[in-house]
Amino acid sequence: MIYENSTIDRNIRADFPILQQEVHGMPLVYLANAATTQNPKAVLEAMCRYYESINSNVHRGVHSLSQQATTAHEAARETVRGFINAAEAEEIVFTRGTTESINLLAQSFGSACIPQGGTVVLSQMEHHANLVPWQEAVVRKGGRLAYIPMTDDFQLDLPVAENLLAQKPALLAVTQVSNALGRVNPIKELIRMAHAYGVPVLVDGAQAVAHMPVDVQDLDCDFYCFSGHKMYAPMGIGVLYGKKALLEQLPPYQFGGEMISEVHWHESRYNRLPFKFEAGTPAVAEAICLAEAIRYIEALGFDAVKAHDRMLLEAATEGLAAIDGLDIYAKEQPKCGVISFNIQGAHHYDVGVILDQMGIAVRTGHHCAQPLMGILGVSGTVRASFAVYNTVEEAEQLAAAVRKAKNMLT
Ligand code: PLP
Repeated sequence: MIYENSTIDRNIRADFPILQQEVHGMPLVYLANAATTQNPKAVLEAMCRYYESINSNVHRGVHSLSQQATTAHEAARETVRGFINAAEAEEIVFTRGTTESINLLAQSFGSACIPQGGTVVLSQMEHHANLVPWQEAVVRKGGRLAYIPMTDDFQLDLPVAENLLAQKPALLAVTQVSNALGRVNPIKELIRMAHAYGVPVLVDGAQAVAHMPVDVQDLDCDFYCFSGHKMYAPMGIGVLYGKKALLEQLPPYQFGGEMISEVHWHESRYNRLPFKFEAGTPAVAEAICLAEAIRYIEALGFDAVKAHDRMLLEAATEGLAAIDGLDIYAKEQPKCGVISFNIQGAHHYDVGVILDQMGIAVRTGHHCAQPLMGILGVSGTVRASFAVYNTVEEAEQLAAAVRKAKNMLT
């Protein structure tokens, strides 16, 4: 079968040392990229270089190492700014990841901007990270959540979304790409719709940033968040982007060092953006590695990344769709990066264990989207998810292995 052509050279795999191993005596086929991606050598070397040469605490030191670490940390912020085309580096807040970014906003925006009895609108395909913090935030205000439902083909129901937004909720918080289904949502249209009713929008970009170019000014989203470890950077670093005018109005989230400009016995003044939201010692090496990962992705180019992604999805979908008795969820476009399925009559966990025995790493379970699994009528799915280092052969191996698992289990 001829699939969409990818221009990504398969020698790319040599950049990822972790892929060179065997699991249960079989070459590792790593298809759990929506959970976390692997780090290229360039990123691992940046981590080593940092600790071998400039490790130091940032922003406070007069000594040379501290100044170099501070410069590198702030240069990383500028790289992130360019990556998502934010207007200013002050709009880039470093966090530990998407979950912390959303918790920051749920606490800060939640306390300042959700009125008593207010509503936050989410979609039915949110990750728990973009659901539970908002449950807490609206409970504190005696308010409630409302959900944009999905149509039968797993698209967000835009007319219902418009009705919900017309009621002027405090916020729309929506994922750009569903981690459980791979569905790409029409966020630009949702943002335009929300703004027509004066509703600010948070976009959860955790599953998007490694797969498609993001331009926060073009999207005109008010907030955007993502995690480094889902885009070839280490764990422990993430980003909250916010429009400067909005971030300036919001109260700090955590308190302590770095986030202050003046402290007195009984009161303090807070630092300017973005430091107001970055209490304590930041993950300096991880931020520098995030910048390195961005350079890695940019060197490949998003045209190549997207074509590669389409090729892998096509190959996996064709292989799996040819197996009788398989339910594939949200099979049609627009999709990216993820294929989610179940073998009828088999538990997703058992399928995952058998695939692992064949060296294939996939995620099974509810994928932190339990309410969505309720809509699918299952307790979980098997999810294969792709990255730039995966090959068509791996997608085909997945289908062959699922066929074997089916024969063993049903
Ligand atoms: N949002 C989405 C769409 C995700 O896929 C994930 C992780 O899988 C998260 C949020 C949470 O990301 P993290 O665990 O890196 O904070």
